[in-house]
Amino acid sequence: KFHGEADTDFILPPNKEWAKNIRAKWMKKVSDEVSVAPIVVGGEAILDREVKTAIDKSQLKEGVVCGKYALATKEDLERAVEIAAKDVDGWRSLSASERQKILGQVANKMRAKRGDLIGVAAAEVGKVFFETDVEVSEAIDFLEFYGHSARYFDDFKNLTCKGKGVGVVTPPWNFPIAIPVGGISAALAAGNCVIIKPASSAVLCAYELCQCFWEAGISKNTLQFVPCAGSLAGEHLVKNEKVDFVILTGGEETAYAMLKSRPNLFLSAETGGKDATIVTAMSDREQAIKNVIHSAFSNSGQKCSATSLLVLEEEVYNDPHFKKGLIDAAQSLHVGSVWDFTNRLGTLANPVDGALKQALESLEEGESWALAPSYADENEYMLKPSIKWGVKERSFCHHTELFGPVLSVMCAKDLKHAIEIVNATGYGLTSGIESLDEREVAYWRKHLKAGNLYINRGTTGAIVERQPFGGLGKSAVGSGRKAGIHNYITQFMNIEEVAEPL
Ligand code: GLU
Repeated sequence: KFHGEADTDFILPPNKEWAKNIRAKWMKKVSDEVSVAPIVVGGEAILDREVKTAIDKSQLKEGVVCGKYALATKEDLERAVEIAAKDVDGWRSLSASERQKILGQVANKMRAKRGDLIGVAAAEVGKVFFETDVEVSEAIDFLEFYGHSARYFDDFKNLTCKGKGVGVVTPPWNFPIAIPVGGISAALAAGNCVIIKPASSAVLCAYELCQCFWEAGISKNTLQFVPCAGSLAGEHLVKNEKVDFVILTGGEETAYAMLKSRPNLFLSAETGGKDATIVTAMSDREQAIKNVIHSAFSNSGQKCSATSLLVLEEEVYNDPHFKKGLIDAAQSLHVGSVWDFTNRLGTLANPVDGALKQALESLEEGESWALAPSYADENEYMLKPSIKWGVKERSFCHHTELFGPVLSVMCAKDLKHAIEIVNATGYGLTSGIESLDEREVAYWRKHLKAGNLYINRGTTGAIVERQPFGGLGKSAVGSGRKAGIHNYITQFMNIEEVAEPL
């Protein structure tokens, strides 16, 4: 039986001490040594390549860098594919239970390195400790769970399940621990060799993770590590016919571009969301505020699952206590350096740009700021939560994924109208309802189009096995299979049925 890994309770005094030690270690690491993470191709760690600098997001002091990494060339990528396709170390010849055992050892490494994984995500991505802590638990869950899923196939005597061959994993930076491990562990459990192209804002996190895999016994041929520019990966990994599948978490444009460049590509992608929570007049409004604030602003809204739209039934929309409660709660979230444990939100992974910038700098007809955007310490990475009120249907903020701490509030005549507003985004990843009325909830379940439907609970933080994660529509370009469910890994396998006369 699979059991989810427990998170750390940071209230307990020994755990508080432990967190302080991680902080001391990583603050020192960032200011002392600047090591270079190599690319790892063909079993070797290679350093003599162009070197890039990862800026330090924990302190953002002039001249302090968090680390460096080597960049793979096109020849490196092509060689990585050749090596993976040959499966020189015979990963695919192992039985599923042997693979499960090794993935279990990787999980143990991650248990032992929980503190360092939290430290590297704080330094490189500006993610606060408790947010990465739950990611480490999720990563361990993926390793144990997918290992277990693969085992299941060993029991069918007439079925042979073989890995498809070579998988490329291209994770995002917003969950720099859980999402890469989810992709790598699923592909490995199914019997494939893996090439990971880390997100450029989370290369050092991915390197720290790969070390757990290698130290636990997965060879540097079976799992290769190739930081490189996205365009190079597109050209020399995605388009390479020897690559059997790609696991992507990213924008839908990236997914469409991959499929355009190679129409026969097998793509398993999770591609963002414009997630909403509906609050009806029949809700517990205090509870609704608590859930919405966490869903909208945790990790500074940089989650595909974040509540980006708050759709209020008219009575709630016009309730001044609700509005004030929402604003007060948002204002209470301190933003700043991750090393200060009173900060609930760390730094943004990247400076404000694109759609987020447009949403922050403009107001359309009917819109006003209930809580205007501002920065802590006048620092462009430290964006405080903001709330845009009166967002209208078909406007920019109604339809566009912002990936930042901006909540757009809309008014709906009734529940039916609220559901129409939410379904009109074209995405369908997560969705929430706050209502204590069972009939409303049943109606919402029937008509709302999303992959993860949450009732009187926040829209983020899906748990492996209990809440398989993945969406519909623009949120699921490609295979659209949910993660954290047993059939997830079968998409990376060829299943042969073997029959003979009885
Ligand atoms: N699985 C995460 C959650 O449930 C979201 C992952 C993402 O942002 O891509 O919150």
